[in-house]
Order: sequence, then structure tokens, then C-alpha cells
Amino acid sequence: MAEKITLLGSTGSIGCQTLDVARNLHIKIEALSANKSIDLLEKQIREFNPRFATLADDTLAQELKKRVADTDTEIIVGFGAENLQNMILKSTECDTVVNALVGISGFMPTVQAISCGKNIALANKETLVVGGAYIMNFAREKGVKIYPVDSEHSAIFQCLQGCPKDSLKKLILTASGGPFFGKTAEELKTVTVTQALAHPNWSMGAKITVDSATMMNKGFEIMEASWLFGVKPEDIDVVVHRESIIHSMIELKDNAVLAQLGTADMRIPIQYALTYPKRYASPAQHLDLLSCGALTFAAADEKTFPAMQICRKAMEIGGIAPAVVNGANEIAVAAFLEGKISFNAITETVAYALEKVDEINKEVFTSTLNTEISPQNILKADKVSRSFAHSYLMI
Ligand code: MG
Repeated sequence: MAEKITLLGSTGSIGCQTLDVARNLHIKIEALSANKSIDLLEKQIREFNPRFATLADDTLAQELKKRVADTDTEIIVGFGAENLQNMILKSTECDTVVNALVGISGFMPTVQAISCGKNIALANKETLVVGGAYIMNFAREKGVKIYPVDSEHSAIFQCLQGCPKDSLKKLILTASGGPFFGKTAEELKTVTVTQALAHPNWSMGAKITVDSATMMNKGFEIMEASWLFGVKPEDIDVVVHRESIIHSMIELKDNAVLAQLGTADMRIPIQYALTYPKRYASPAQHLDLLSCGALTFAAADEKTFPAMQICRKAMEIGGIAPAVVNGANEIAVAAFLEGKISFNAITETVAYALEKVDEINKEVFTSTLNTEISPQNILKADKVSRSFAHSYLMI
């Protein structure tokens, strides 16, 4: 069980819920980081008294330093984009780093935390999307554990407890289907940002909510599950389960299916990632089976929502292809949220970038002698993919 944590992204949805869990279980806080939410971070510093804190924006970090000069917390400033990196390096007392950052910005902090020998409670799925092979190898090498926070992966992790590894046949990821389940491609042409942000079951940050609406999130989760559990993508099924009561399942060789159920409350998977293998009382609501209604299942519509197929194809291609998909997706989702492009253009942009993977490969690997999938090459692929997405969208 984690005794002291460093929490990256403490003011976001997962970050705040992690602090809820920590408060409840008296888990100590070594360090906190946020992107720009200085007011909330200040409040968190005053409550949790971490040794260190920082903001990704150096000007704001300087401002925070002045504001909390009366506390014992040291604010890491003066390194700009590297404030976070420096904070992880200084976090020598924590045993676990909770990565609740959004997008590829979470990748290098995971690499850094692993190199410092910290266990990872991973909410940032993009870490594994862009660099799954590298991360899993590096974690093994360093002897650190990666505990899933993503609800589906936590469910699978929970179901796998006590199952011999060779007894597993397949993983079954459940998907809520998002706000646009049942809509046709034609109807999707005119959906708005507000509609995309209205997730039926989960309250989450904007980026992941849009990813849920396009089903890119589920495609990413196939990749994430494949790396975390060492299962081939073709042995990972997706089933739409609108009620979000079953958080995912595993099927064993004898056709027994194990499922994990619970209310749609992220504090359950967050807590399990921090207390594994132990269980404690949780602030999350109890699941009342008699009031949750019928549980339904439907096939995922991969034609109308091609994102999952795109992700499976990227895994098949391997190498930098998943990073290409992620980079283009981040540009397209941001553009959609700013009202610059249509909803369908998100997936179209990602498909376009993946079609250009050979060209992107040439730009990343300028020499045939250097074809290693290193963090530097992953970041380079991300950058090139973003420029392809920009030119495709003409933004
Ligand atoms: Mg999930």
C-alpha cells in the first residue's frame, strides 16, 4: 500500500478524487502539481502540507511561491517546462507517483518517475498509448509496479487477482457508448461541443470526455490493456454497456467470465491502485443492485465510430504508429473544443495521420541505423504527427 504519494495533475478531476481518497485513508502527500489552477492548488497545499508543489506555467509558479510563503511547502520555480521534472526528482520520500496528467504531457513524467524507482498509479493512459512497449520494459527493468487507475483496467486487474496467467482467454472492455451512442454518421456531422461534453455516466475532464464521444478513448483503452496485461489486441473485445455498472470483464479458458461491478465513481479504482492488495472503506457510494435497473449489452458500432479500428490498426503497425494516432487526436480534439472543426473531423484527422505513418517515420528516423523506439523518438513522432494534423485541418 502507498504511504506517501506525489500527485501529478492534482487539480483535475482524477487529482481531486485522489486527494479525497488520500484524505480518507491518511495517505501522506509528498508533492502536488497543476497546470494552471493556482487557486485550487493553493487550497490543496494549505490542507495537505506537501513538501513540494509546482505549476507547469513558470509565471504562475512564481506567483504561487509568494502566496504560500507562510507554509512549509517548497514551490519549484525557475525551470519553466521542467518544473515538473525537477519536482519528481526531489520527491525522494514518496513510494508512488500518481499520474493524473492529460495527454502526452504525462509520458515523460512517467518515464522520470520509473527512473526514480517509484511505483506508478497510472490514470494517464496516453503514457501507454504512445510508449507502451518502452514503458513496460523500463518498469520491469527498474522493478517498479504500474497500477491501473482507468476504471476498465482496474476492473480487469481486480478480476485477474488469483487467476493463473495461463488461464486467461480474453479481456472484455465495457464501453458506455458515450453521449452519441445510436447516432448515425450523418447525425454526428452536426453535434456540438456542449453535446459532446455531456457524458451520460462519468464526470471527467474535457479531453477524455470528447475521446469517449468519438470512442477514441476505447481504442486507447484497447492499447492500454494490451500493454498492461500482455494480451494481444485481437483478444480484447469491446461491448457497449450503457449503465456503466460492470467496469470490465475477463473470460477464462473454461469460459467462466469474471466481472467487477460498482457505482461509476473513480475513487474506487484510484483507491485500489493506492491500497493494493488491501481493501478499505471508501468514500464512494455503495452499489444498490435493486435500484440500478437492468444491465444491457450491445455491439460497438465500429463503422459509425471508426476510432477503435484506427487504434487496432496502429497497434498492428506498431513502432511510432500509436504515438502518431495520439498526437493527431490531441490536435483535433483541441480544435474541436475551440469550435474550429466539426466532430467527425476529429476521427478523420487521426485516420489521415495514420495513413501518413510512412512519411512520419522517415521524418522521425532520419537514419536507418537509429530505429529505436526511445522516448525522444516517441516525442518526435508526436511533434511530426501534430504538424500533419495541423496542415490537414488547415489550422
Ligand atoms: Mg476508462
